[in-house]
Amino acid sequence: MIEARSIFKEQAAPHSLGMRSRQLISVAESEVLIKIHSSSICGTDLHIYKWNEWASRSYRPPMPLGHEFGGTVIEAGSAVRTIRKGDIVTAETHLPCGHCRQCRLGRGHTCDNLKLFSRMGLGCFADYTVVPEAALRIVPADIPIEHATMMEPLGVSVRAVSEIPVDGKNVLVLGCGPIGLFAVAAARAYGAGRIMATDLSAYRLALAESLGADIVLDPSQQSIASAMPAILAEEKFDVVIETSGSERAFQEAIDETRKGGDIVFASLPDRPFSIDISRYLILKEIGLRGVYGRRLDETWLRVETLLRLQGPKLAQVMSHALPLADFETAFALASSGQAGKVVLHP
Ligand code: ZN
Repeated sequence: MIEARSIFKEQAAPHSLGMRSRQLISVAESEVLIKIHSSSICGTDLHIYKWNEWASRSYRPPMPLGHEFGGTVIEAGSAVRTIRKGDIVTAETHLPCGHCRQCRLGRGHTCDNLKLFSRMGLGCFADYTVVPEAALRIVPADIPIEHATMMEPLGVSVRAVSEIPVDGKNVLVLGCGPIGLFAVAAARAYGAGRIMATDLSAYRLALAESLGADIVLDPSQQSIASAMPAILAEEKFDVVIETSGSERAFQEAIDETRKGGDIVFASLPDRPFSIDISRYLILKEIGLRGVYGRRLDETWLRVETLLRLQGPKLAQVMSHALPLADFETAFALASSGQAGKVVLHP
């Protein structure tokens, strides 16, 4: 029997986090017990922390938090075949059924019966967690365990800059939270031309520059159009990656997107955006596309390759690490804009 601490969202109200102590007895036959090495705070966790409209529609506290982690397998259930004790693992948070029409089309990430790891387990802001075998991914031996917690969110960014190839293209990244920062780094790694990144936080803009952005700007101080050097003002952006959830940022960006360019949404805006279809979709032939999580498992393989090539650079996004017991400070820091990704260590 193992005594494990776990961070909970306690009540349907802003903040309201607490630490609970629980006893883990044994794992079910298709489950795996994992000792957490590190876990990181995701944008979804922050929506739940702040208890915005989307979170209050989607969740029912009390519930454990966290789904990005790296850890070591302590025990595997009797029916587990692909994971062994001692393996270093992380989780794919989307569990497809494998049988529905979407799955058969090779679109398991939009499975009609999709289950979410973030709504079923012990969470991973914890000493230990229990995860179904199907949700686990083994972290290859040449990727350090410290980098494992980046794999799931990095996958969202890698997919966003892969859906529309960015090589040789001018790319605008709206928002420099962790997904935007990873998108800047991935776009640079995949051979983008000019990269501009926007955010309201000077701290995050500095990180974006060190990850490969050529031009950074705070849209509350300067318009995107006025920050464009002459050549870029003429060429405009081929690809816009939207991670901010801000309609204003989107409306500004669409005017700076070239005819025939593409806008990829990797954010979850809490309200619908409006768009002038005649002006942008028809007359300018701008493409709009959303990405929901990672392609299974193509994106994971791309993430592994990128981490092998650029792990230390990407790790700059993990700007702060705190002990698990300091979870209140960690969540406040992560929602302040004065951090990249905040990591918790049990
Ligand atoms: Zn399915």
